[in-house]
Amino acid sequence: MKGNEIFLEALRKDTEMWDAFTGKNENPNLVSSKYEGNDRQKIMVPAVSEYLTHHGYQVSYPDGKRFAICLTHDVDDIYPPLSHKALSCLYSLISLDIPRLKQDLFWERKGRKSSPYLNFREIMDLERKYGAKSTFYFMTALRDPVRFRYNIGEIKDELREIVKSGWDVGLHGGYYSYDDPQAIQAEKDRLEKALGKEVIGYRNHYLRFKVPDTWAHLEKCGFLFDTTYGYTNTVGFRNGLCHPFRPFNPKTGNQMKIFEIPLHIMDGALFDLTGNYQQAWQITENMIDRAANCSGILTVLWHNSVFNCPFRAKWKKIYEKILEYGQKKNAWMTSSTEIWGWWKEHGY
Ligand SMILES: [Zn+2]
Repeated sequence: MKGNEIFLEALRKDTEMWDAFTGKNENPNLVSSKYEGNDRQKIMVPAVSEYLTHHGYQVSYPDGKRFAICLTHDVDDIYPPLSHKALSCLYSLISLDIPRLKQDLFWERKGRKSSPYLNFREIMDLERKYGAKSTFYFMTALRDPVRFRYNIGEIKDELREIVKSGWDVGLHGGYYSYDDPQAIQAEKDRLEKALGKEVIGYRNHYLRFKVPDTWAHLEKCGFLFDTTYGYTNTVGFRNGLCHPFRPFNPKTGNQMKIFEIPLHIMDGALFDLTGNYQQAWQITENMIDRAANCSGILTVLWHNSVFNCPFRAKWKKIYEKILEYGQKKNAWMTSSTEIWGWWKEHGY
């Protein structure tokens, strides 16, 4: 027996673990990915992954790495919305950073391509310093409850540069799309057209998701993995796993083909828990250690806007700290497509 068979057999022997894995105790109509329980300590432990590790499920990584950190960025905006512009100016003013203030106010004079949020190269440079790579999830939805986001056709060159550099591009599905396979397909087509390449990875905007329907829609549209499954209002291991998995579909009684790379820490959710840098790092460090101890993966989501946002400097600092700590702990820090490929290739 190998990988996925060991995984399934071990979980089937323990009802509590099986129920955690399949999310049996969650509200079946949950779409918001909000944690609705009252025991936040419990979701800080990857109990199912720890159980699997003690029951013969073993995972290895390339180049003798001990565990993995999956790095992802959702690109909600490529131009700062007015609210960000106002806050950035305020922060730059308070900190008497006049060059930055001028940039916040007047960047558009140099053309739209000088937008502070068209910062993919800067993010890749930062990651390269630590031997890391990541995935950028781009939006192509036409509908959004807040504002029209951006036209993907405007940044074809940037998309192609990301892929040429060895980084990864996935689809950030629209707010309303999680339950609309036609919308998902149209968004996938638009992104592929701009990118000139097939897109296989997905994450829904606002982490909106319906278990197991969204997975089924994604499978139908040709996606090979998703990375939406996590929480919007806290951090943690939603179904006790810090390993990618093929979800079980209770409607068919079968395991699905699509892979889920669960999400564990979203920047905003972490800083909603605590605005304090030290505490935010403690929580993050603890989760990295937990994942490392069971040779798992920890998936983090840092929005591209954070990297050029004076009022979110602390958020960026935590990201850098993750890279630094990951390198020190011998983590494979890479994109979601590479993680998926490794899982697929090894039959985990
Ligand atoms: Zn989003």
